[in-house]
Amino acid sequence: MTTHQDGNAGGASATARTVSVDVVVVGAGTSGCYAAATIADAGYDVVIVERKDETEAGHIACGDALKGASDFPEAIPKSQLEPAFTNTDVDHGRFEIPQEDTVLEIPVPGELAVIDRWEYGRCLIEGANDSGVEFHYDTVVQDVLQDDSGRVTGVKAMRKGDPVTYEGDMVIDGAGALSILQDKTDLEDATFDTNVQYSQFCSAYREIIEVDEPVEWDDALVFKPTERSAGYLWYFPRTDTEINAGLGFQMNEEPMELVDDLKRDLQGRSEFKGAEVQDKLGAALPTRRPYDSAVAPGFMAVGDAAGHVNPTTGGGIAGAAYAGTYAAEQAIEAIESGRTDDEAALWEYNERVMEHFGARYAALDVYNIFTTAYDVDDLMALLAALPGEKLAEALYGGSTSIGLGLKIKMAVKSIGHLGTIRDLYQTKKAADRLLDHYQSYPSDRSGFEAWQRERDSIMDDIYEVTGAEPKY
Ligand SMILES: Cc1cc2nc3c(=O)[nH]c(=O)nc-3n(C[C@H](O)[C@H](O)[C@H](O)COP(=O)(O)OP(=O)(O)OC[C@H]3O[C@@H](n4cnc5c(N)ncnc54)[C@H](O)[C@@H]3O)c2cc1C
Repeated sequence: MTTHQDGNAGGASATARTVSVDVVVVGAGTSGCYAAATIADAGYDVVIVERKDETEAGHIACGDALKGASDFPEAIPKSQLEPAFTNTDVDHGRFEIPQEDTVLEIPVPGELAVIDRWEYGRCLIEGANDSGVEFHYDTVVQDVLQDDSGRVTGVKAMRKGDPVTYEGDMVIDGAGALSILQDKTDLEDATFDTNVQYSQFCSAYREIIEVDEPVEWDDALVFKPTERSAGYLWYFPRTDTEINAGLGFQMNEEPMELVDDLKRDLQGRSEFKGAEVQDKLGAALPTRRPYDSAVAPGFMAVGDAAGHVNPTTGGGIAGAAYAGTYAAEQAIEAIESGRTDDEAALWEYNERVMEHFGARYAALDVYNIFTTAYDVDDLMALLAALPGEKLAEALYGGSTSIGLGLKIKMAVKSIGHLGTIRDLYQTKKAADRLLDHYQSYPSDRSGFEAWQRERDSIMDDIYEVTGAEPKY
């Protein structure tokens, strides 16, 4: 692969060095690595610009639970990532509900693994590197370049203290949650979703903890509500003695003391007596619907930078891998037809995201919205009354059907919470409407505004049914 460099190469200088490639990818995370590997595999020049140094790259705050571990895009195959899968025996969720003195054991559909996230990050980078991707570490993107028509033409960065300009036919933003690129780009004339606020994010923190004695639940992902409804604690076993322990809360709520709250819960659990903390990291993640559109002339966003996360579980690795791949395939088509400056030529990327997982995530967001409006004790009583497999369907599928017999059993079990149950059924109906609507995402750009109007009207109904504060 050749990277063309002109301008003032090397050394501290007032003039920025220029690196010209076919595609500039920002971020060496899951989305960026999959995007870049796909582009390199097709024979195009691609550089990944990453702010971390080579050692730290791939070290990302995560719960380390990998859902959909059986199925990864080809550009970096599963076999290349498997060395990082430290626990493949996990097959269910364990929901601890202290308010009800209940533990629910709920099967998780599909293949699941708990991973060593840093090792996984290194495997990803190695996979992209094998495809011929060039990596520029220690390089912080600070600005975005646009021409007079508004088309994105590149980014400006600081590389080890020196300014560097990166130019490409396409810029792919894989810079994660709250990406600076979107603050710096004028997207007013594009369909690109700019309706992004802190209330749509979760603030999360995790520690990697080593215990002396094996935990009993090494085949389960353990979840527990935080003291307020809009958050949860997790204990995910990387091995039976190495646990990823973390928690998060929705950022439209009163902030939690993440470090202290986690410490308090850990101290209350006998299995963590004498445990040692090996690593600590925190970050924000989007817990919202996916971007309505993640394309603009010369520009696409992927993964966390486009809200491609399951908003009820916080799982974003699989979405990032697929979004990166789909965006790259669309970029290649647009380069080959000479239309990278045309949103219409990039549109199919939006469609593929919505079809694969975006519609489901948008429907799941409705349950997220629902939980912000209710009292935690009410919700926990309801959770305890729900049949486990239905809960799993709802968590991962975006919808579930519950027959009359079960409805009656649930109602009897959770007498006193009937109002909440009624509201939940109304919410479910609204979520199903939203799912249907996302499943008919417009097949070209011309139907977009009408589609958005109808979606907004469904969202109005959702806010009315749930009584939740609008987060969009
Ligand atoms: C605490 C926590 C727990 C989570 N738990 C899970 C889980 O258990 N399972 C799961 O599937 N998902 C989980 N997620 C979500 C998951 O980590 C993300 O969805 C996934 O990492 C998204 O990948 P990405 O490539 O889009 O972004 P990221 O992995 O965030 O990668 C973005 C990259 O861009 C780089 N970058 C950012 N800004 C710049 C800049 N200006 N210049 C250059 N480089 C830049 C960053 O350094 C980083 O390397 C969790 C997230 C958090 C915060």
